[in-house]
Amino acid sequence: MSVAFRHAMIYQAIPSFKCKTGCFDCCGPVVFSEYERSRLTPEQAALVTLDAVVARLRAGQTTCVFASTAGCSIYDKRPYLCRLFGTSAEPKLTCRHGCGSGVKFSREQTAALTNEYEALLRESANVE
Ligand code: SF4
Ligand code: SF4
Repeated sequence: MSVAFRHAMIYQAIPSFKCKTGCFDCCGPVVFSEYERSRLTPEQAALVTLDAVVARLRAGQTTCVFASTAGCSIYDKRPYLCRLFGTSAEPKLTCRHGCGSGVKFSREQTAALTNEYEALLRESANVE
């Protein structure tokens, strides 16, 4: 199975829901797999290398570069963690505004899905 297909399978397993309009309160520094970065434009991808993210954090910038009151500017290409937030019973993945999917992943299901994603993080340097 290709890296692209495995990402698509993980994304497909995550339910979608509607956020509060104009909110980006949970949009902090976020990890992208190499495959997820490869789907961005070169200019966008350069903003989310590990070095770029660390440099922004050191400068006290804790909001994601793609966040705006108009929403996420790369919404269709947002990475795994952004998709997972609000769909899990894990307290740290719970929306402070009460938004989220009606049915939530249990902690065990969340861990299993995240393990799959972490395997892709390790492997997706070989983008297919
Ligand atoms: S999940 Fe909640 S905190 Fe995050 S953007 Fe949506 S409404 Fe805001
Ligand atoms: S990529 Fe989009 S959804 Fe994810 S943290 Fe950034 S602005 Fe928020």
